[in-house]
Amino acid sequence: MPAREYDVLIVGSGHSGGMAANILTKQGLNCLMLNAGPESDFEHNRVSKPVYDLPYRGFGKPGRLPHVYQANEFNANQWVDETENPYTHDPANLYNWVRVRLVGGRSLFWARQSFRLSDFEFKAGDLEGNGQNWPISLADLDPYYSRVEEIFRVSGRKEGWPEFPDGNFIEPEYGPDSESIKRLAALGKERGMKFSKMRSSGGQNGLASSVNLLLPDAMATGKLEMVANAIVREVTTDKNTGLANGVHFVNRHSRQERHVKARAVVLAAGTLESTRLLLNSGIANSSGVLGRYLHDQIYGISVVSSVPEARDGKRPPGLMGGSAFIPRFRNLKKEEKRDFIKGYCVIISSGGGANPSLFAEYGEALQKKVDSYAGSCVSGSIFGERPPRYENHVRINKDVSDAWGIPALHIEVKDGDNERNMAKDASNTIEELFHAAGWEIVSNTPNFYPPGHSIHEVGTCRMGDNPKNSVLNKFNQSHDIKNLFVVDGASFVTCGWQNPTMTILSLSMRASEYLADQMKKRNIG
Ligand SMILES: Cc1cc2nc3c(=O)[nH]c(=O)nc-3n(C[C@H](O)[C@H](O)[C@H](O)COP(=O)(O)OP(=O)(O)OC[C@H]3O[C@@H](n4cnc5c(N)ncnc54)[C@H](O)[C@@H]3O)c2cc1C
Repeated sequence: MPAREYDVLIVGSGHSGGMAANILTKQGLNCLMLNAGPESDFEHNRVSKPVYDLPYRGFGKPGRLPHVYQANEFNANQWVDETENPYTHDPANLYNWVRVRLVGGRSLFWARQSFRLSDFEFKAGDLEGNGQNWPISLADLDPYYSRVEEIFRVSGRKEGWPEFPDGNFIEPEYGPDSESIKRLAALGKERGMKFSKMRSSGGQNGLASSVNLLLPDAMATGKLEMVANAIVREVTTDKNTGLANGVHFVNRHSRQERHVKARAVVLAAGTLESTRLLLNSGIANSSGVLGRYLHDQIYGISVVSSVPEARDGKRPPGLMGGSAFIPRFRNLKKEEKRDFIKGYCVIISSGGGANPSLFAEYGEALQKKVDSYAGSCVSGSIFGERPPRYENHVRINKDVSDAWGIPALHIEVKDGDNERNMAKDASNTIEELFHAAGWEIVSNTPNFYPPGHSIHEVGTCRMGDNPKNSVLNKFNQSHDIKNLFVVDGASFVTCGWQNPTMTILSLSMRASEYLADQMKKRNIG
């Protein structure tokens, strides 16, 4: 890598970094992208062995990924090894930080559920009276969402509901709903619920990642250099101007340290890694809120019912099957008074079976029960919004470092009554809906996973108009250092019930165009 000054240095190659590279290189800027991990080798990694040939019989090496419930011995190499990259939390307050360091980051593995935030989220402070508004509204982000949806080939059904904004969708041919879904939709309507369909990114060839949808165009401009296995440990600043002038990074294998110079720095290391980098650099925190307001979504609540007339293989044609998506229906009006603020979506699936663990029987009796319920079940699960709170934060733990000597994060997040009351409302509401349909309730799991488990962590570098209580301005630009941008989920003010990636991509696109424009005008660099 030549010792030269780049126009823009991008840290991270996932959705947010890939979008920054795509936009900035097309604007003619010379970019260097540094990524902590290696390029993924699908051909090599796809070879699978039978479970009896694996040293841990599929369960994975103990201690390597204690917080990643999604990990097993087949996919263990895709996640960040926690023995090399530790973080700490109070044992009583678990936090599941799920990380990927391959080139492409989590965009290689995400489930692709793709939603816009609405003004019920962007302007949540007006609704809830607590000042937690974003400095932008849906109208500001709408054109960027549309362009992102085109690139990611998002499919969905347009509805015209303000709480579930439509986008630039491919509208698939939906077959007719099954009778079980129709029955629920009619009952849901009486309860203020609107039934729609899942929205998701189709991408290309089964992949909707930065490595196939964003980085190839950036590479084709000849303006992007990519260095894998480069772990950035500090953003450096000019002691005269206070502006960012580059980064220090460590080679993952040789542990050799390098400094590289740039006219602007874009952090896209994935919410908590970007914040860790800023905290370790000791910059961009005149507000004192860097690391604060970490939040995500509650997830794990699930109600399973069984439709009696569909049991024992006797289901009438057209009764079972299909799915529905119910966007947030709680707290959409100021007058609505509940024991929680914000809301949740419900994902309905019809036609599955019941997990054997839900029945008390054993042996042959259990097998009969499982066979009898096969295909007769309707389930409902949720994503619910956790409110952002000042006290839920990350800080540097000076006593713990990663394998490269970089101080690790301590994560301190606790759930409150809002989460617990929302969870209770969700499990009761779904159970009541299934009950009203005349179905047997097979199970109701009102418990939800610890923070982080949804893999939708956002906040800690929140954006805002006031530099006294926000880290970034409305263009994801540091209030303190004008040539420093954070374009991943760290900038979120509130997360909504919506999976965050469409919003991350749209913000990164908007911020990158703003940065390019500012560089052209010589306001930056
Ligand atoms: C299994 C799974 C399912 C998901 N499903 C959905 C879904 O359905 N819908 C949805 O909206 N979202 C989903 N998500 C979340 C989604 O993947 C993330 O919101 C999104 O990919 C975040 O992109 P990012 O670029 O901000 O961060 P990341 O993808 O985490 O990328 C960060 C990159 O930065 C690099 N990096 C980190 N630290 C450093 C450093 N110090 N130096 C250099 N490089 C560094 C890493 O190597 C990584 O490649 C899912 C995630 C997972 C894992």
